[in-house]
Amino acid sequence: MSNIQELKELTSLTVINIVDNEIDGMSSPCSCMAPIPNSSSKQDTRVATYTQEFVTRLNEDKSLDMNNICNGAHGLSLLLIAEYKDSHGSSEKIVKKYLLFDGGPNPSVWRDNAEKCKIPYKEISHVVLSHYHIDHSNGLRSAVPEICKARENDVTVDLHPAKVATRGLKVRGKIYPMKPDNPLPSEFQSMGANVDIHQNAHVVNECFYVSGEIKRQTSFETGLPGHFNQFHDAKYGKQWVPDEDIKDERYVACKLKGRGVVVFSACSHAGIVNVCLDASQNLNCDLTAAVGGFHLAGSGVENRIDETIAALKKIKPDLLLAGHCTGWKAKAALAKELPYIFNPLVVGGKYRFNSL
Ligand SMILES: [Zn+2]
Ligand SMILES: [Zn+2]
Ligand SMILES: [Zn+2]
Repeated sequence: MSNIQELKELTSLTVINIVDNEIDGMSSPCSCMAPIPNSSSKQDTRVATYTQEFVTRLNEDKSLDMNNICNGAHGLSLLLIAEYKDSHGSSEKIVKKYLLFDGGPNPSVWRDNAEKCKIPYKEISHVVLSHYHIDHSNGLRSAVPEICKARENDVTVDLHPAKVATRGLKVRGKIYPMKPDNPLPSEFQSMGANVDIHQNAHVVNECFYVSGEIKRQTSFETGLPGHFNQFHDAKYGKQWVPDEDIKDERYVACKLKGRGVVVFSACSHAGIVNVCLDASQNLNCDLTAAVGGFHLAGSGVENRIDETIAALKKIKPDLLLAGHCTGWKAKAALAKELPYIFNPLVVGGKYRFNSL
C-alpha cells in the first residue's frame, strides 16, 4: 500500500548536483530556465532557474580557485531540497526537507565535491539508492558515514530488496564484473544508518515519492543488452544471472504546486519515456520536468534516441535536464529537437524549480 496521499505539494524544489559525468561551469542555460535580467519587478514564470558552478564559486569564494571546482565522474548524486507551506489557522511556516538521491561512483569524489558544494550533512535525514549499480552506490560509502556523523546516526537509507552484490556486462562473449561490489543493507547498518527496504512505491519524508517497479509501456525501451547479476547468496552463489530489465531501479518524484511532476531518474534502465509516463500516471498529474541520466549512451541503446525524442515531444514537459549516462549523441539530438526545454545537467550546478 502506497502512502501517496501524504505527498506534499511543493512551493519550491532545489537540486544540487554533487556528482555527474559532465563538468561545465560556464555555459549559459537554455531560454526555458534563465532568469530574466533586470526583471525583479515582474515575477518570472519559467519553471526553473539555474546557477552555474563558476558563478556560485565567485559569489561564495570571491575568486575562481580551481582547487574549489567539482570533479566530474561517471555516475550521479543529487541533493534534493523540497519546500512546502504548512499552515495552521492564521500562522504559516515554510518546511524544508532534504533527500540525497544516490552517491555517484567514488567515495572520495563524493566527499570532495560535497565539501565544495557546502552540502549541509546535518539536514539530510533520508538517502535513497535508485538501484544497485556501482556508479550510483559506491559514493554512499563516504556520504552515509558523513551524514551519520553529522546527525548522530539519525538517517534512513532507503533500498530495494533485490540486494544485487555484483553486476556484469557481456562484451565480446565474456562477462566483465563492475567493481567494487555494491554496498548491501548490512553494510549501511554497520555504518550506523537505519535501513528501510521497499519493493513498492511509497512517500519518504512527506515530499518525495519513491517508485516501485517501473511499468514498461513503450516498444523501444527494452533494457540493457548483455547485463547480468551476481547475488553471492545461498541460492545462486557466484553464478551470473541474466538481467536486462534491471527491475530494481526506482525513480524519485516530487509534486510542484501549479506545475506537476518533477521526476528524478538516475539511470533510466526502464527507459526515460517509461519513467516519465509511470511518474505522471502514479502521481496523477502532468509531467513538468525530468532530471537525471536518460541512458542513451552506448551502441546497444543509441538506436533509441529518435524514438525517445519523438515520445518526449508527445509528453510535452516544460524542462528536460539530462546528464550522467545520456551521452553526447542524445544530448546533441535533444538540443536540436527540443531547444527550448532541454538543458544538460552538470556537476556543481544548482537548479531551482518554482511553483505557480
Ligand atoms: Zn544509465
Ligand atoms: Zn545503472
Ligand atoms: Zn548509471
